[in-house]
Amino acid sequence: MASCDPFLALFCYLTGEWPHPLKNTSPLPSASDELLLSLEKIRQRVLTCTACSLYQTAKQSVFSDGSPHTPLVFVGEAPGEEEDNQGLPFVGRAGKLLTATLEKFGVSRNKVYICNILKHRPPNNRPPTLEETLACTPFLREQISLIQPKLIVALGNSAAKYLLSTEDGITKTRGKEHTSILGFPVFPTFHPAAVLRNYTAYYPLFETDIHEALQRVGLCQR
Ligand code: SF4
Repeated sequence: MASCDPFLALFCYLTGEWPHPLKNTSPLPSASDELLLSLEKIRQRVLTCTACSLYQTAKQSVFSDGSPHTPLVFVGEAPGEEEDNQGLPFVGRAGKLLTATLEKFGVSRNKVYICNILKHRPPNNRPPTLEETLACTPFLREQISLIQPKLIVALGNSAAKYLLSTEDGITKTRGKEHTSILGFPVFPTFHPAAVLRNYTAYYPLFETDIHEALQRVGLCQR
């Protein structure tokens, strides 16, 4: 039986150029492959996106980390400096705090999906403008609708305000489940960068929120 080159299969799938059916001995993509391929198509569009000016100042785009085969998605505001350097979300000091807190409850980072609303870093970590947010949110909407999570944890004020379409601050919305504009439940908590700035006051609340989110989706039984 002829062997199938996986890269050829991926290229053919992405371009729609399947080999001649008589020569195609590869099985159809499984549902999980379909999810990965669909997300990869979105990532490819992000790589060439010029819908706002942030691509001009960022080093690279930051799409996601972790697994899309998960009931739990974390959404932050935008990449920071370290994320811009590495091309991965939540890998700086704040991201390490998130990772350590997940691990405290026996959940490794690759069991959840992590992303931001903005896919390019705003210069000097300034808050994204409304125009930039509106330009980028279609990507997030597509990611979430493909993954179909049981719960989205909004990390910080900006993500919570966008996902809940509210002006209420994070101290009011955190630690409770809400209905989001994306049609999936949202459970807001502090951004880990804010936790680092006020560790004594915020870390116990942040830890409680992460624990509860993990329990709600069945990733932590403790
Ligand atoms: S931040 Fe979003 S909308 Fe702006 S260029 Fe990057 S991917 Fe496109």
